[in-house]
Amino acid sequence: MPIIDDHQLAVWREILQLCKVQTGENLIVLTGETSHPKNIDLAMRASAAMGAHLCRIDVPPVVGGGAFGQRSDVAATPISGHRMVIDTLKRADMVLDLVGLLHSPEQLEILAAGTRMLMIIEPPDVLARLTTNADDKHRVLAAARQLRAAKVMHVSSDAGTDLTMPVGQFPIASQWGYADEPGHWDHWPSAFVSTWPTENLSHGRLVIDEGDMMFPFKSYVQSKIVLDITDGFITSIQGGFDAKYLRKHLESFNDPNAFGISHVGWGLHPKASWGALGLRDKVQSHGMDSRSFMGNFLFSTGPNSEAGGSNHSRCHIDIPMADCSVSLDGVPITDHGEVLPSNTGSTHA
Ligand code: FE
Repeated sequence: MPIIDDHQLAVWREILQLCKVQTGENLIVLTGETSHPKNIDLAMRASAAMGAHLCRIDVPPVVGGGAFGQRSDVAATPISGHRMVIDTLKRADMVLDLVGLLHSPEQLEILAAGTRMLMIIEPPDVLARLTTNADDKHRVLAAARQLRAAKVMHVSSDAGTDLTMPVGQFPIASQWGYADEPGHWDHWPSAFVSTWPTENLSHGRLVIDEGDMMFPFKSYVQSKIVLDITDGFITSIQGGFDAKYLRKHLESFNDPNAFGISHVGWGLHPKASWGALGLRDKVQSHGMDSRSFMGNFLFSTGPNSEAGGSNHSRCHIDIPMADCSVSLDGVPITDHGEVLPSNTGSTHA
């Protein structure tokens, strides 16, 4: 959907102001073959208008990525092993990542140098619709405090989910849509909180219901998938076509660790939409509506090495689920897909 250029530029400047971009700061726009041309143009113009010392680094694509060429391969990025680029990015005050370095060791290295990073993949009209503000940060940080204090996350649903996940071994990942603190990584658009379950302890059943979503497939599930989970790993995948597709995709990596559990959490973006994924073809969207919509339970499979865990699987599947009820230490956080009013952070608690 076309958006008036002036409006887009204003939206980008608003995001950069939230990121506390200052006159004279060193800012790098990282681009590649998959970066949206309009986003590149807006990133450069908005950053220049903020008075940043600005440059653009354009990198070639990764050759022969993951399974079926999709981004369920979390191992390689266009700057993997590219020392000159990594060191240059570490010297920047801020990087606008229009390529997607997520899940990579080089991203962790850049952040450790104190560089702020904001990943931007969605097309311009999604960015213009899913703007963010300080309320989103307050809401996410309030949820992060609840999650940090918890010992057990439990999720249930009328479809049959009954899954218990001890937490506390790994840090909390908070995304509020802008990078305003040294060493903070964020993703525009995004608002959710997550962590990785304590290793080898999750147990129960996860029923992925009709209308839930799976990435990188970028599709709605059409038939229930029943996952049995024991000692932190998926031990059984039952159901119809969708179950078969998920099982065969995981098996295609020839890696038992692909059946592990990665990050889990819930969505907190009031403007994100469950239905947005159905309005686009697959190359048009990264799926942040699906991952962020308010009250979703975001389950995922594969590695926890990004958080410091021992599972280094290259296979990672995000599974945003609607209509689940999440509780922490027995205290309800969401109820049938709705964030309870006491947990929306609307009062900046
Ligand atoms: Fe993920």
